[in-house]
Amino acid sequence: MPTVETVQGAIDAEELGLVLVHEHVRFRDEAVAAEWPQRYDEQAELDAALEAVNAAKSRGVQTIVDPTAMFGGRDVRFMKRVADETGVRIVACTGIYSYDYLPHYFDNRDVDEMADHFISDIEGGIQGTAIKAAFLKCAADAAGVTENIEKIHRAVARASVQTGAPIMAHSMPAAATGPRQVDIFEQEGVDLARVQIAHCGDTEDLDYIQGLIDRGVYVGLDRYGLDMYLPIAKRNATAAELLRRGHAERLMISQDYCATIDWFPPEAAEEFAKSGAIRNWSMTLVFDEVVPALREQGAMDDDSYRTIFIDNPRRWLTA
Ligand SMILES: [Zn+2]
Repeated sequence: MPTVETVQGAIDAEELGLVLVHEHVRFRDEAVAAEWPQRYDEQAELDAALEAVNAAKSRGVQTIVDPTAMFGGRDVRFMKRVADETGVRIVACTGIYSYDYLPHYFDNRDVDEMADHFISDIEGGIQGTAIKAAFLKCAADAAGVTENIEKIHRAVARASVQTGAPIMAHSMPAAATGPRQVDIFEQEGVDLARVQIAHCGDTEDLDYIQGLIDRGVYVGLDRYGLDMYLPIAKRNATAAELLRRGHAERLMISQDYCATIDWFPPEAAEEFAKSGAIRNWSMTLVFDEVVPALREQGAMDDDSYRTIFIDNPRRWLTA
């Protein structure tokens, strides 16, 4: 029986159960949080995380995959607290979440040295704990696959090849980063069946998404509620068509919800909701609106529901 590392230790893969594959229990810049801790309310952050995860639990969610990496304020002790208090498992990652910037620390070390950092998180433990990373995270966004981003991707790829850990790559369809990201993984010898290209659902361009699926990767339809990139109805039209084409086995559905996020001042959330930039963004939206809509359209049945929320995350996380 293959096992998967969670913040509470290794479990049998079968125990993962119903999975939300891309949610953040907290998202903040660790440097700002370390320098100005008085700007953050840890208790409020914890309360928000518990509320979001408990809401997901009430919809049947048993495991949350949290791809918060370096620069997103990854904190496995915080994640473990949320897992302990909710009874929902949390799966943590290693990697670097940057759209281009790299600290001088990594500027002056090569790809293999960077990969060693990731490997020690996977094999030894994270942040001085025994909690191990179960997967690798990297990102490409509007700037495209710059020299620094390529370096991170190659380091992630080499750590994957060496450890067998799967990869989740944040992508930006509007900048067509996906194919280039897959190219790098392929060149480095990564098993593309263990790669998840996140945020593909931000585009309506089915040819673009189909092109990625044809290469054997998982595609993330994982930003439901972030209408600023694409509204829910259009995301559903994409999901329905991909399901009709028989691609349930390649789809990951989630919300990329952040229980708290420090990117904006507190009043911005209300503004975003008012302007329609976000709509019902939460850790339950896919169960409350998306699955019912896809079922109503005849695009999703019990089998494809199981495939997407149970089988795919398990297959991606195990060999
Ligand atoms: Zn995310």
